[in-house]
Amino acid sequence: MPALEFFDEGALVSVLTTEPLGRALDYRAPEGGCFLGAFVEVPLGPRRVTGVVWGAGEGGYDLAKVRPVTRVLDAAPMGEAMRAFLLRASDYTLTPLPAMLRLATRAPGLADPPGPRKVYRKGWVEPDRMTEARGRVLDVLDEYGGAAFTLGELAGLAGVTTSVVKGLVKQGAVAEEEAPRDLPYPRLDPDVAGKALADDQAAAAEALRAGLRAGRYGTTLLKGVTGSGKTEVYLEAVAECLRQGRQALVLLPEIALTAEFLTRVEVRFGAMPGEWHSGVTQTERRRLWRMAGEGGVGLVVGARSALFLPFRDLGLIVVDEEHDTSYKQEDGALYNARDMAVLRASLCDAQVVLASATPCLESWTNAEAGKYARIDLTSRFGTAELPEMRAIDMRAERLQPNRWIGPTLSAAVQDRIGRGEQALLFLNRRGYAPVTICRACGHQIGCDHCDARMVEHRFLKRLVCHQCGETKPMPEACPSCGAEGRLAPVGPGVERLAEEVAERFPEARVAVLSSDLFGSARALKEKIAEIGGGGADIIIGTQLVAKGHNFPLLTLVGVIDADLGLQGSDLRAAERTFQLMRQVSGRAGRSEKPGVAMLQTFQPEHPVIRAILSGDEEAFWRAEAAERQAAGMPPYGRLAGIVLSAPDVQTVFDFGAELARRDAPLRRIGARVFGPAPAPVARVRGRHRVRLLVKAAKGVALQPALAEWVGQLKVPNTLRLSIDIDPQSFY
Ligand code: ADP
Ligand code: ZN
Repeated sequence: MPALEFFDEGALVSVLTTEPLGRALDYRAPEGGCFLGAFVEVPLGPRRVTGVVWGAGEGGYDLAKVRPVTRVLDAAPMGEAMRAFLLRASDYTLTPLPAMLRLATRAPGLADPPGPRKVYRKGWVEPDRMTEARGRVLDVLDEYGGAAFTLGELAGLAGVTTSVVKGLVKQGAVAEEEAPRDLPYPRLDPDVAGKALADDQAAAAEALRAGLRAGRYGTTLLKGVTGSGKTEVYLEAVAECLRQGRQALVLLPEIALTAEFLTRVEVRFGAMPGEWHSGVTQTERRRLWRMAGEGGVGLVVGARSALFLPFRDLGLIVVDEEHDTSYKQEDGALYNARDMAVLRASLCDAQVVLASATPCLESWTNAEAGKYARIDLTSRFGTAELPEMRAIDMRAERLQPNRWIGPTLSAAVQDRIGRGEQALLFLNRRGYAPVTICRACGHQIGCDHCDARMVEHRFLKRLVCHQCGETKPMPEACPSCGAEGRLAPVGPGVERLAEEVAERFPEARVAVLSSDLFGSARALKEKIAEIGGGGADIIIGTQLVAKGHNFPLLTLVGVIDADLGLQGSDLRAAERTFQLMRQVSGRAGRSEKPGVAMLQTFQPEHPVIRAILSGDEEAFWRAEAAERQAAGMPPYGRLAGIVLSAPDVQTVFDFGAELARRDAPLRRIGARVFGPAPAPVARVRGRHRVRLLVKAAKGVALQPALAEWVGQLKVPNTLRLSIDIDPQSFY
């Protein structure tokens, strides 16, 4: 790596802060000087804020007024590649640079002075007297295994005062230790023998290793059917990266997946990697953030935000289940972690591996065009076979009212659990019922703040708005006509399906996997491990179960409503349904016993359903690609979504209409504006929402034109404007 530029004490430096200022500010380098990229604290008015030394100061004003940097923080300076990444990511997503920097400085206690700190862990003895508050502290310690906490963090998580924790320390039930400074992670050993690879795996691993040895940027689409052993293959790429002394990052779409993955890493490399996601303690996050910058961690496993860790020398980024929609950050800074991974790698000579059984059309197209290399693993590892796919024509099934499992599927479930195997029933709808209707007047209960229906969650005993999260108790009487006892649920959610399952299969042990039913990521992880070990006969799940979990006893997947995703007019409806159905089906028959996937559908002739059944994936992608190309839609054209929202409906429409009128900067690049139109969800949290859609040809400089276009108008105070480049959802 090139040597970093150094600024002597008193030199003018330009500091980018995380404050929304629109530009970097000049300061004087502090006593002892500072490096380019140094994390610093600077005065801003009466406050002190965090920033990064972004370059030399510009001068050209009253130099006597320039204040000095308060101090340099205890962290490795941000490297040049990382600064370039933030700049480019800011340009691409049209997110202001300070907001980008905020993503890169999410280190708890970054501004804390160095030196030893007290940390708290599980102690050696039980407390003499157990109180409810003490119990909660011990629960938190158990829940996070052997993790260390700061005093405030432990008390906060347990919801107790710090004196409760101190009381437990006196008794030895909680251990108080001096933690030196953050410690490096144990070294992973790339030369521990991995699993013996099958021929196609070995060839794939060798291709990835060759990419790493070249030491240049490159992206590979690793497309392999579920269970083909993609993970084993990319772990070999991680090994090569570690051998070269560089760092590797593996992104997973779902925290619940990390437990199984961490175990595999430990087996393969003899130690645990660093973990970065919302279920990790603040103390560990702080440590990981620092070690990424100092090179004290070799492999990081994390959620999409791990992409913004200040790695010292990142050589490999794996995006597992790359098609997953959760890689798109949908609020605040809108970015797609898959695309940002490619950008980041291209700026630091790193390799990217995009792994999936059902890649997104964007990646498929990039591989077709030769921008990405592509490696296919076409069969499952070992003796495991891909599940047989069958459609159940629901027009021919006799369903009783308010029942959703047809006789054919029901018989198949009975058969499986009779043999001691597991069955999964998939329904992508949380809660009990999506709609609550009054039988007297026909009123449907909606959210007070959003243009959305409230969803009954019987487990919580409340109605929940899936847009804003607002909840309220189930009313006795209809809020519209006042009739009592006439409110009725319409349609199924997983909780209601669970009721039907309990009636039909009274002997079976049933587990419901839905993100809202678990208080913590740990609780969910435990449940998944329990199911994997045979702790349930029937699993009912939302799309949470579609993501890479391994349930060896699972041999039947029943999709309750395969048509669900095909309704509506979303650009990606077909693609998403195809991916989801293939992924869910892929859960069946992962070990010796063969699996079957059954799709309940009212339209077995629908092209997407037929493509799912035939398993001819390339044909599906070719057809989908042809349609998008004909329509000039992504990935063959470009889109940007603009969402305007304000408490007052007139303000949003007026502003939207004015924007649409002043479209000259867009017309210059041949782009077109559609709208303003009310957003599909026209009101959220009391704010009215209006959408504009900009459509452009591929290859034009869309972002600068967009910036110029919206820059023409001053945004009223009450109005929020967000620009979503390459939007994934259109709500
Ligand atoms: P994918 O990531 O493609 O879904 P995995 O890498 O999880 O597939 O592999 C599926 C299963 O097969 C896992 O249980 C894994 O341990 C096993 N497996 C894959 N490759 C090998 C191998 N070369 N030797 C032994 N077991 C393997
Ligand atoms: Zn709401």
